[in-house]
Amino acid sequence: MLKLENLTKIFHGKKVIDNVSVNVGTGEVAVFLGPSGVGKSTLLRLLNNLETLDAGTVTLNGKQLNLNTVNKTHTIGMVFQQFNLFEHLTVEQNIMLALEKTMGKNKKEARKIAHELLKSYGLADKRQQYVSQLSGGQKQRLALTRTIALKPQIICLDEPTSALDPLLTAHVATTIQQLAREGYIVLVATHDTTLLEKLACTIYLMHEGKIIESAMSADFRKKQDSYPQIKQFVSGHI
Ligand code: ADP
Ligand code: MG
Repeated sequence: MLKLENLTKIFHGKKVIDNVSVNVGTGEVAVFLGPSGVGKSTLLRLLNNLETLDAGTVTLNGKQLNLNTVNKTHTIGMVFQQFNLFEHLTVEQNIMLALEKTMGKNKKEARKIAHELLKSYGLADKRQQYVSQLSGGQKQRLALTRTIALKPQIICLDEPTSALDPLLTAHVATTIQQLAREGYIVLVATHDTTLLEKLACTIYLMHEGKIIESAMSADFRKKQDSYPQIKQFVSGHI
């Protein structure tokens, strides 16, 4: 269980994350939903130590997490909106580099692990291709595979569908569901309500750094009127 308690982040005197508290169980998906500028990316960046918290605590399985060390321990992984892959390297090299540089694996071990992972995530036939030759969907799968290679317990995905066409959005929902089934804690930041259509998750609607309404997705689908603000956001985006 991941517990975020009273998280606060201030930029230039403004609370961009304002007292956010959320619990996410192992094998569960939390979706932070809302329009641009409400703080979704900042929340994920805080957890990945790309920004520093001004207040609040993060607990994983009953132990307080020191966010300053999450990048060393690889407890939390992030798939960035722009993927942050090395375009001039091959698919295989992108995974190997992560394993060598951050996990201290030697080339032989790194290649073996990379091959296995690329097979499980459907990229085996792309191993020797340069990232610059991949489609948006393939780049996304590679970015996710690279994150998984570092064996995190928590996976954060920032706008995972923003570079994809609508058909691929359904695939992303399936992949997120698969990650949850494999036992990861999955956190997603998105403004894309079509991603929600097939996802079993808890929806957290954000506004000005706060969570203003939350719902289990199955419950929301059954009783939309009980969640007027999520309903309004979803209907405004179809
Ligand atoms: P979202 O992902 O929901 O679009 P962000 O988390 O990117 O929102 O941004 C939330 C707010 O914080 C915005 O007003 C944005 O301008 C501001 N912000 C984000 N990062 C920084 C930063 N490094 N310095 C100052 N302001 C920032
Ligand atoms: Mg964002």
